[in-house]
Amino acid sequence: MPMRPPFCPNRLCHLHVDPDSREAHGLRRRRWYKRNGFYHTKVRGAVRRYKCLACRTGFSEQTFSLDYYVKRTIDYREIVGSVTTCRGVRATARSLGCSCDSVTNRVSRYARQCISAHARLLAELPFTENVVADGFESFTVSQYFPNNIHLLVGAHSQLLYFIDYVSLRRSGRMTASQKRMRAALECIYRAPAQALTASFAELLEHLRDRFLVSTLRPLILSTDKKREYRKALAMNADLAGARREGRLVHQRISSRTARTTSNPLFAVNYIDREFRKDLAEHVRETVRFARNVNHCMERLWVYLLTHNLYKRYRINDPVSVERTHAAEAGITEARIQGAVRLLDTRRRFLSFEHLEAAQRRVWCRSHLTPLRDAAKGVLREISKAARSGEVDLDRVKKSLGIESLTVTRQQYLPQYALA
Ligand SMILES: [Zn+2]
Repeated sequence: MPMRPPFCPNRLCHLHVDPDSREAHGLRRRRWYKRNGFYHTKVRGAVRRYKCLACRTGFSEQTFSLDYYVKRTIDYREIVGSVTTCRGVRATARSLGCSCDSVTNRVSRYARQCISAHARLLAELPFTENVVADGFESFTVSQYFPNNIHLLVGAHSQLLYFIDYVSLRRSGRMTASQKRMRAALECIYRAPAQALTASFAELLEHLRDRFLVSTLRPLILSTDKKREYRKALAMNADLAGARREGRLVHQRISSRTARTTSNPLFAVNYIDREFRKDLAEHVRETVRFARNVNHCMERLWVYLLTHNLYKRYRINDPVSVERTHAAEAGITEARIQGAVRLLDTRRRFLSFEHLEAAQRRVWCRSHLTPLRDAAKGVLREISKAARSGEVDLDRVKKSLGIESLTVTRQQYLPQYALA
């Protein structure tokens, strides 16, 4: 049976309405489009075309599919299974017999679905448990550009409520040659100042929104002793006020405290361990690392949804017990079903999503990747010079015959992601 288009995909048309809204319900009874023949594709044969009678925009059945525009279908479950079980992109591509770009493209599509499902899952959901926040440390591209991936996790459920990525300056002990290298690389990309506080402030905004609809008092937020956390908390008027009145308690624990289950930071320590073993790019001391921040976060979003909804709460639970992190956080089965409905078939449209800034950055691929703009050969020359003595960037340019150390590279962002 042919599908009935749920709404007009042209975002400027007045019939571009949220498929879950009352207007969309009304559209189901109206004749607002006409059938407009077929077009032929190699991958799925004849595809029906439609035309909106209001704005005259043409579209097809495929417009509403997660596989919009693809020239080859790949099972999303295979891809999700791979990226969440420590398999790299190249190994996944080899096993599926497709290109690495096809794998990253499908992960990218699926990550947007996961962001949308997560936002629906948590909308207006109050906290029924205390929470723990921390920054997971890893790096992208080079050890000279470490990151913090901020996490807000349920203390009991270990549900991941919030994630955000922030690039940091490399600090700690460095040899003279490493210092030269860092200084030279920072002429190409420098991590933004105060980024850690700003990103944590976003985490606190997420916490605030949920705190205001919760009745759990006092709510305990546990973190380690990073100064930036305290600073960001003081800057959030609502949470700082709640803290003064005793409705919110900020518990600060030394990050050197033994990582046992009785440690108040257990939830983030647990997530830390899960990331290290389940995500190829975060396995320590290996040749596996992320090359692009946007891809890294897309994989993490796919992992987040899998962790929250499908992973067993405790691996040693008896087979008959089906606890998940979401259920432990008090999310009902009906809510879960509503959020994941048609997750791997029906494409979610940005215009109907209510996203936080951190989610929007991943959806729109607007994270900056360190050194991505370095001109060809520049990194090799800098590394060579740093090992042997001072780095003269003018000499690097001259030896490569280039005017600038950087070139502008657009981040790939397909138009359909913005519809
Ligand atoms: Zn229209």
